Amino acid sequence: MPGTELTKRKHGLLNILYPRCCPVCHRILPDQTSLVCGDCAQNLPFIRSPFCMKCGTPVAQGEEYCRDCRRSEHVFDCGRGVFLYNETWKKSIEKYKYYGCREYGDFYAELMARCALGDRRIRGMDLVIPVPLHERKKRIRGFNQSWYLAARIAGKMGIPAAETAVVKVRETRSQKKLSLSERRRNLSAAYEVTEPLTGRSVLVVDDIFTTGSTMDAMAEILYRAGADRVCFLTFCVVPAA
Ligand SMILES: [Zn+2]
Ligand SMILES: [Zn+2]
Repeated sequence: MPGTELTKRKHGLLNILYPRCCPVCHRILPDQTSLVCGDCAQNLPFIRSPFCMKCGTPVAQGEEYCRDCRRSEHVFDCGRGVFLYNETWKKSIEKYKYYGCREYGDFYAELMARCALGDRRIRGMDLVIPVPLHERKKRIRGFNQSWYLAARIAGKMGIPAAETAVVKVRETRSQKKLSLSERRRNLSAAYEVTEPLTGRSVLVVDDIFTTGSTMDAMAEILYRAGADRVCFLTFCVVPAA
C-alpha cells in the first residue's frame, strides 16, 4: 500500500504492551509502525467504479444506481463506503468495537479519508458528524466507534468535526420487523440536533451502511436543522438485497 500514513507511525510503550494487530488477518504487525500487514495491504478489495451514485455499492457497467436506490427515495444526497461488507470486515469491525482493537480504527479512518478526498462530490464538504450512540450504550461500549473515525477523518480532510451536533436521546430497539419508512420515522425521533447547521454541508460518518435508514434519519434531521447538503462516509457498505 503506497503512502506514508499507512507505514509511518510512532513507536511507543503501548505498542510493546499491547502490540498492534493487522485489521485484516489479526496477526501482530511485524512492523508496529504500519496500519496493515504487508500481505494484506497487497490485495485490499476496494470498491471501485462503477458504483451506485447514491449509496456507493458496486453496480454493473453502465448502471447509475443500484437496484435498491432505483426503488427507494433516500433522503441523503450521496455516500461512499471503502469496502463491501463481508465476513472479513464483520470480524474486523467486531474486534474494533467490542474487543479493544482500537488501532483498527486508524486504518479504517485512513482509507475512509482517502475515499472522501478522492470523490469530488464529498471532498469540499465542511463539517463531519458521527452517527451518535445513546449515552448508556456508549458507557457500556466505552467509546463511540463512529466518533473515533469521524475525528480522524475530519483531521485528514482539514475540516472540523462536531461530536455532539447530533445526539441520540432515545434508545431504539431492533427494527427488523419495521418497514423502511417506519424505521426512519422511529430513528429520526431518537436523534436531536444541538446546534444550528444553516448552510452547512455535512458528512455523516459511521462504520457500516446497511439499509440506509440510519443515514436517512440523520439526513432528515440535519436538513431540518438547515443543512445544505448531507452525504455519508462509511468503512463498509452492505450490498442491496
Ligand atoms: Zn494482515
Ligand atoms: Zn444504491
